[in-house]
Amino acid sequence: MKMNRIIIALLAMALVTSCSRSEKVTPAITSDKAVEAKVESVLKGMSLKEKAGQLVQLSIVTLEDETREALDPAKLDKIIGEYKVGSILNVMHDMAHTREHTANMVRQIQEKSMEVLGIPCIYGLDMIHGASYLIDGSFYPQEINLGATFNREYARMMGEAMAYETRAAQVPWVFSPVMDLGRDPRWPRLWESWGEDPYLQSEMARIETVAIQGDDPNHIDKEHAAVSLKHFMGYGVPHTGKDRTPAYIALNDLKEKYFRPFKECIEAGALTIMVNSASINGIPTHANKTLLTGWVKEGLGWDGMIVTDWADIDNLYTRDHVAADKREAVALGINAGIDMIMDPYDPECVNVIVDLAESGEIPMSRIDDAVRRVLRLKVRLGLFDNPTWEYDYKDFGCDRFAKESYAAAVESEVLLKNEDGILPLKGNERILVTGPNANTMRALNGGWSYTWQGGADDFAPQYNTILEAIQNRFQNVKYVPGVVYDQGWGLWQKDDAVSITQAVAAARVSDVVIACVGENSYCETPGNMDDLNLSANQKELVKALAATGKPVILVLNEGRPRIIGDIEPLVKAVVDVMLPSNYGGDALAALISGDENFSGKLPFTYSKHINALHTYDYKVSEHREVMEGSYNYDAVMDVQWPFGFGLSYTSFEYSDMILETPTEFKSGDVLKLKVKVTNTGSRPGKESVLLYSSDLVASLIPDVKRLRGFDKVSLEPGESKVVEFELPADELAFVGTDGEWRLEKGDFRLSCGGQAVMARCTETKVWD
Ligand code: BGC
Repeated sequence: MKMNRIIIALLAMALVTSCSRSEKVTPAITSDKAVEAKVESVLKGMSLKEKAGQLVQLSIVTLEDETREALDPAKLDKIIGEYKVGSILNVMHDMAHTREHTANMVRQIQEKSMEVLGIPCIYGLDMIHGASYLIDGSFYPQEINLGATFNREYARMMGEAMAYETRAAQVPWVFSPVMDLGRDPRWPRLWESWGEDPYLQSEMARIETVAIQGDDPNHIDKEHAAVSLKHFMGYGVPHTGKDRTPAYIALNDLKEKYFRPFKECIEAGALTIMVNSASINGIPTHANKTLLTGWVKEGLGWDGMIVTDWADIDNLYTRDHVAADKREAVALGINAGIDMIMDPYDPECVNVIVDLAESGEIPMSRIDDAVRRVLRLKVRLGLFDNPTWEYDYKDFGCDRFAKESYAAAVESEVLLKNEDGILPLKGNERILVTGPNANTMRALNGGWSYTWQGGADDFAPQYNTILEAIQNRFQNVKYVPGVVYDQGWGLWQKDDAVSITQAVAAARVSDVVIACVGENSYCETPGNMDDLNLSANQKELVKALAATGKPVILVLNEGRPRIIGDIEPLVKAVVDVMLPSNYGGDALAALISGDENFSGKLPFTYSKHINALHTYDYKVSEHREVMEGSYNYDAVMDVQWPFGFGLSYTSFEYSDMILETPTEFKSGDVLKLKVKVTNTGSRPGKESVLLYSSDLVASLIPDVKRLRGFDKVSLEPGESKVVEFELPADELAFVGTDGEWRLEKGDFRLSCGGQAVMARCTETKVWD
């Protein structure tokens, strides 16, 4: 039997430092003398108005002419010349353009900016899953899918391609990665994140950050771009489940789970962050000086730049009522630590800043600090020397990116049920494909795809929908749309619906039914809803199809786990494709035909009951008991499918888990673990190997388990590999209610694929 060694580079991950408050903070990004000298020399020559202009970012809409396809020279004169605005974002006409069109527009802005200010403008775009605002760019599956691959390589690939192609369009700044923990399935932006787990999120986001920026944050080259980590922080757990509504998060959770991904990315060199549009514990995040200035800038010694989210300074007075008017709101935000105000349509914001600086309501020292941060970003990106650049982006839109996107889609679609081995299909069946998600690129891509709400039906007809891909792969395929979406939004309706009766009639003369249901694309508040259940009409369709007695394969194409507890028992197989993007249909056809094998695992908990929305790292008393053993670590949550669940056409056996280092450990030690994984089935397959820890006794109720490591192995039938984990002991610490990290004395269980070993911490250590 072939034995391989795979080392998990957990050590490479930023270790929890044990610095005390009095110790000097090591800067997150090492400062570069030449960069700083340039910043100072530019700052010295700037007027107050020029400084204020650098702190404002407007939408490209403010520069469009009436065609909405080109810039209006008079508006350029006004916005860049008179108002001296330093940054522009978004897309013309609210939709993607080609690389060339985008580049031409940026060139004109840069020309004007250099001519009138001598300072380059910085353009930023929401590139969320690849170059998702370029018609001719490369798209990857959404982050939630990449989370399901548990394969760090895809975060790297997507980051590199995204930066390269964005830069090819003369845009040096992406509003990515999204790193809001998707811990509330009601929240309409869950799919923009890598799932519910802080460790998975940190790993993938950190790797993507470095992939986007390259290795040297002081000198970003022409193939890389600046990131904007978003949305800082706790944005993904609004109390109501609705977007941009308040979150209430205990200090210990905030620091341990929500801050962690940001901290790691900042320590890996992230140059900018974007702020959570809502509030935490009653404080709008845009006005939270403790978090923005305290935790991030001072706490991490970070000299990067903080940008607001869309119109969120206005929200401080229009929505949150913590300021009486715009003046107060701007002062509150900038004094809290905001460096750039995304005030999409209002250049007058520049004059408000000037006025506040003149009156002393914003100290000049704060204005200068914010301007330095904006200028530093521009210098680090090389924009002063090259406001625009010539470079041969020969890999733009290349086959390699397309192949990576396809491979990521294959590894991300999750097989959740496969009764009687109905999948893979034999190939000669009469197949009925039905449901509102069967024939749409829009739903496969989700939001942030060509347009904000998702425009792939108009922009991506050259790719295969699920139906087209199945038709290409199988002989005998019939299509009946079935029902339309039923979310009540005009935007979400499709007009090719026929009745359930027709779908049922077609099912009767088929051998197998593939029912493609889920959601249409959405993003942000338009995705808010009041019922997490899959829409009633889609459930009716599935029930009626199942009643024919024909085997139903349920394909879920959705951005969040819609509840299907009542229809799941009626179907033979379930595949959750989530939002696999342009090659997601092809990937599905290859998977259900057996040309490829499933290896995706859920990066979130798939809930079964509407009043039981859990995450996998729950407190042991939270579980709804379905096994004997109340308050037992091994009791099973009554969920539809747990975090980390996913089937394959082959089977894997775990054995021989050992702790190689002594069972007793203390802070600073590294625990070395090994586990053997064997492919015991008859097909090659990939397996995500997930390492968990459970703290058996702690001074705060411990989470039942926590993901501490993962790796993906590829195994031929009969092959075994030994997977090795190196787990820093400090990773087993938690944050107490005092906000201090604590590694406490006592027993820990480390488990992997049903195997477990015990280890004991012999000393309690507490640090900031
Ligand atoms: C979103 C951000 C996005 C920004 C700029 C906001 O509405 O919340 O994620 O980066 O718009 O488009």
